[in-house]
Amino acid sequence: MATHEKVDIAIVGAGASGSVFAAVMAAQGKKVVILEQGPDWQLSDLISSDIWGRRIKPAGGPFILEGRHRVSYGNQGGWGVGGAALHYFANFPRLLPDDFHIKSTHGRAHDWPIAYEDVAPYYDKVARDLGVSGDAKAEEVWRPAGEPYPMPPMKTFRNGDIWLKGFEALGIRMVPAALGMNSVDYKGRPACIYDGWCHVGCPIGALANPLVTYLADARTAGAEVRPLSTVTRVLSNDAGTRVTGVEYYDRNGERQVQEASAVVLAAWAAQNPRIMLNSATVKHTNGLANSSGLVGKYMMTHFASGAPSRSSMRTCRTTWAPPAPSTCRTTATIKPATRTRLAAPSLLRALRSRPTRLQALPTRALICLARSWTCSCGAPRADFPASTRSERNCRTSRTASN
Ligand SMILES: Cc1cc2nc3c(=O)[nH]c(=O)nc-3n(C[C@H](O)[C@H](O)[C@H](O)COP(=O)(O)OP(=O)(O)OC[C@H]3O[C@@H](n4cnc5c(N)ncnc54)[C@H](O)[C@@H]3O)c2cc1C
Ligand code: SF4
Repeated sequence: MATHEKVDIAIVGAGASGSVFAAVMAAQGKKVVILEQGPDWQLSDLISSDIWGRRIKPAGGPFILEGRHRVSYGNQGGWGVGGAALHYFANFPRLLPDDFHIKSTHGRAHDWPIAYEDVAPYYDKVARDLGVSGDAKAEEVWRPAGEPYPMPPMKTFRNGDIWLKGFEALGIRMVPAALGMNSVDYKGRPACIYDGWCHVGCPIGALANPLVTYLADARTAGAEVRPLSTVTRVLSNDAGTRVTGVEYYDRNGERQVQEASAVVLAAWAAQNPRIMLNSATVKHTNGLANSSGLVGKYMMTHFASGAPSRSSMRTCRTTWAPPAPSTCRTTATIKPATRTRLAAPSLLRALRSRPTRLQALPTRALICLARSWTCSCGAPRADFPASTRSERNCRTSRTASN
């Protein structure tokens, strides 16, 4: 075991949250180390492929998800430097003032101890720092005024225009989504090319991911990122009154201690409680900061919803924002029975030879279709090349299979 020189701040997790902390602290002259369990991804590692994309999904032990409203873990956290925001869709909707006092207004859930006005200046600051494209004026019909977004909205395509028409007919007003994507060149990063691969990482840096935003700032200001370092416990002094650092296991599985004056847990909503519960001592028998017994309970992540539909549109490059794979999947017009008979890549060959409108689908859409032919643990079926069936693929997608 080695003990590393004491730093001011040890941050656990190099995702969106850890990166912001690191950038702010390092800019203040603090000595910062970020411990990240995954690899040190570079933009050049990002490949626009759904099969490759499986490698960047969360790793680690499985979660026991209990309760009436279980969250879906797999699609939210990340693994490796950049975390989930290395491969997210970068929708940046703001909470509305009402969201902060749901209990008082609607008699449901809880009120927050802060108000929209407390966070509003940070929404504007983050939009400037990261680069957000949108139309603030259009949004201000339902939220208080703030600064304009630094970039104009992203383009819309035929699909988006059709949705817009439909909503207009129903009297529902739509505005361009605020997105952490460059509609024009911004801060030395290029404009988006609308190829729609954000969910496996944007190799050109048009997507506002931590590598090209806060983490880059943190590194410039002297923060160290230590990849392949899995933190297991926050260490505290004998009196139980102060943290003293963290215990972690390095890339060789060796136990290490990083001493620190302060520890920031930014390992995502489910991993943070795991570490806190695992940090129990005689002074904190229920885990750190858990006198309430609520650590690990009432977890809330961001929700997602979908509206599947069938259409005869011929391309999947036509959404309001760059498309999700599910968008592509819904453009398929083959019958479910046919689907189950076919398997990729024979699927790809079969579809290409069929004289249907599927032939008009670009390869990207066909790959999206193929993506749904996976075994129950989430790993690709035997028809895929062996190189895509690594143990990592299987393990990570099993964690994600809820
Ligand atoms: C495909 C996809 C699309 C999304 N789209 C959107 C969107 O449009 N808008 C939006 O707001 N959100 C979106 N999200 C969610 C958003 O990306 C995440 O909520 C956010 O990035 C989480 O950031 P985080 O820093 O809290 O956690 P993470 O990004 O998960 O970072 C935590 C980091 O900690 C590391 N870690 C975990 N445990 C340990 C440990 N024990 N020791 C050391 N390191 C550890 C992990 O490897 C990880 O890199 C999307 C997510 C995904 C996957
Ligand atoms: S659609 Fe734009 S932001 Fe998304 S991966 Fe492609 S270039 Fe990057």
